[in-house]
Amino acid sequence: MSRTGAARVETDGDGDRQVDIVALGIVTAAILLFIATGAAIGPAVVKSLAGRGPGPDRFLLNAFLLNIAIIIFGWSRYRQLCDEIRQRKRAEQHARHLAETDPLTGFLNRRSFHRAVDELVLGAERRERAVVLAMIDLDNFKQVNDCNGHKTGDRLLQECGRRISGCLPDGALISRIGGDEFAVAMEFVPHRADRIDRIAASLVEAIGQSASVNAINIDVTASIGLSRSDLLPPVPGEEGGNPDSRVLLDRADIAMYHAKRQGRNSFHWFEAPMAEEMRLRSELETGIRQGISAGEFVPFYERQVDLQTGELTGFEMLARWNSPRFGIVAPDIFIPVAEEIGAIAELSERLIARALQDAQEWDARLTLSVNISPVQLRDPWFAQKLLKLLLEASFPPQRLEIEITESCLHQNIAQVRSLIASLKNQGIKVSLDDFGTGFSSLAMLRSLPFDRIKIDRSFVSGLAENKDSAAIVHAIALLGKGLGLPVTAEGIESGEVLSHLRQYGPIKGQGYLYGRPRPADQLAEWLEGVEIVADAETINDLDILRRRIEARQEQERRQEEREAAAGTPHDPLPRSA
Ligand code: C2E
Ligand code: CA
Ligand code: CA
Repeated sequence: MSRTGAARVETDGDGDRQVDIVALGIVTAAILLFIATGAAIGPAVVKSLAGRGPGPDRFLLNAFLLNIAIIIFGWSRYRQLCDEIRQRKRAEQHARHLAETDPLTGFLNRRSFHRAVDELVLGAERRERAVVLAMIDLDNFKQVNDCNGHKTGDRLLQECGRRISGCLPDGALISRIGGDEFAVAMEFVPHRADRIDRIAASLVEAIGQSASVNAINIDVTASIGLSRSDLLPPVPGEEGGNPDSRVLLDRADIAMYHAKRQGRNSFHWFEAPMAEEMRLRSELETGIRQGISAGEFVPFYERQVDLQTGELTGFEMLARWNSPRFGIVAPDIFIPVAEEIGAIAELSERLIARALQDAQEWDARLTLSVNISPVQLRDPWFAQKLLKLLLEASFPPQRLEIEITESCLHQNIAQVRSLIASLKNQGIKVSLDDFGTGFSSLAMLRSLPFDRIKIDRSFVSGLAENKDSAAIVHAIALLGKGLGLPVTAEGIESGEVLSHLRQYGPIKGQGYLYGRPRPADQLAEWLEGVEIVADAETINDLDILRRRIEARQEQERRQEEREAAAGTPHDPLPRSA
C-alpha cells in the first residue's frame, strides 16, 4: 500500500557521491604515483637484475613501496567508507520515511502530503490538467474504536487503506492525515470530472462493504468531500489564483462535512455556499462554548399526561438555546454540534441541575424526564455524575427518568446495559426513546431492563390518516403490554389521534395537543389547581378560553389608549367571553 507513499521518500544521494569522489580521488592519485615511480625505478630494477647496473634509487624504491601500501590502505578505506555511507544513507532514508509517512498505513502523513500536492498542482498546470483532492472520513469510526478496542480500530483503518488504494489510479497520492481521515490527490483532465465521480463512488462503495476484523464483522461507511484546483468559484475573503494544497484540503473538508450532514455514506464536490455554511458552523461552535458559561442554555418543559384520565404525570425537559445572536435555537441544531466539539456533557449537566431545581417547585408526584446523548452514555462516570447532581439538589431519584434513544443501542449495548444497571441501582428510571426508528430487537428489549418505551412521534402524528402508522403504534402498545413495559406516545397533535390512542389501553402521552414546551417561569398556570387532573379536551377548552381572555384584555387596553388620546370616558366591554 506504500506505492504512493514510498515514491516520495526516495533520496537523490548527491551529497553521498561527493564523499565517494574524494576517497576515490586519493586512491586514483596514489595509483598514478605508483605508475610514475614504477616507470622510474622499473628499468633500473631490470638492469640491476641483469647485473648491468647499480639498482634503483633507494629513495624512489621506498616511495614506490610506500605507494603500494597507500593503495592497499586507501582501497580498503574506500570500501569501508562506501559501507559507512551506504549504512548512513539507509538510516537517513528510514528516518525520512518515518518522518514523512504514517506508521500504521505506510501512506504519506499530513505534512508530506501537503508538499506532494503542491508539487502535483504545479506539474498539472504545466500539462494543462487539474488536480482533485478528496477528503475521506469514516463515519462512526469512534464507535468502532470504543466498542471493539483500538487494535481492531487500527486493523480496520489498514483494511480501509487497502480498499482506498485499490480504487485509485497509478500515481495518485494517498495520505492518512488524522485518526480516521484519509486524503487522496490525483491529476485529471479538467473536462472529465465524471471520471473522478466514478472513482469517488467506487471509494464509497468499497469502504461501505462489511469488513471482517479479528473475526468481528464491522460495518463502516465513508463521507467524501472533493475539491479541484481549477475552475474554483471565487470565495469571499480568499485571494485569487490557483489554490495551494491547504486551500484544496480546507475545501475538501468543507465538502466532506456537507456530505456528512446530507446523511453520510456519499461524496460531494465543494461549492462556494458551503464555505458560508462552514463559517456559520464555526460561529455556532464558538457561540455554544460561550453560551454554556454564560448560562444561555435553558430547560423548556413538555407536559406528559395519562391519556385515560388526562392527569398531568410529569414533564420532559427539552433544551433550548437562548442565543443573543440567533434567538431561540432548537436542540436539533445545537446538540449535534455540542456533541462534536465535546461540550455536550457540560451543557447537559448544567441543564439537568437547573431542571432539578425547577422540579423542586412542582407537586411531588410529578416526574422529570431528561434526554441523554449517546456521547454521555460512553462516559463511565455518568451514573456517578448524575447521582451527585441529585444529591446537590436533594431530588428523589425515583422522580427522575432518563431517556435513551433507540439508535444508541446499536453499537453500545454492553455499555448501555451496565449504565442502566447502575442508574436503576440508584432508583432512577430509564426509558427507551424514539422507539420504532432504530434497530432494537425483541431479544435486546427483553435483555435491557427499561422502565418504559416511548413510541416515536413519526408514527403517532400521522396515526389517524396512515393505516401503517396506526398498525405500528398498536403493535408497540401490545408489545409493551406483553413485556410489562409502560408505553408513552409522543407527538399527539390532535383529538383524533388521542381517541385512537385511548383504545390501545393505559398509555401515557405528550404532544402539542397538551401545549408546546415552555420555560419554567411559564409553567405555573399548568401546575396550579385544575391542570393536574384536567382532561386533554378540557385543557384544549381552557387554552381557547385563555386566548379569548388575552384577546379581550388586549382589546380593552387599545380602547383605553384610544380614549386617553381622545379624552372621552371609558365605555366597558360586555363581560361575556
Ligand atoms: P425528543 O426527545 O423526541 O423530544 C420530542 C421533540 O418533539 C421535541 O422537539 C418536542 O418539542 C417535539 N414535539 C413534542 N410534541 C410534538 C408534537 O405534537 N408535534 C411535533 N411535530 N413535535 C412535537 P425538540 O424540543 O426540538 O427536541 C428535539 C430532540 O432534541 C429531542 O427529541 C431530543 O432527542 C433532543 N433533545 C432535547 N433536549 C435535549 C437535551 O437536553 N439533551 C440531549 N442530549 N438531547 C436533547
Ligand atoms: Ca425524549
Ligand atoms: Ca422522542
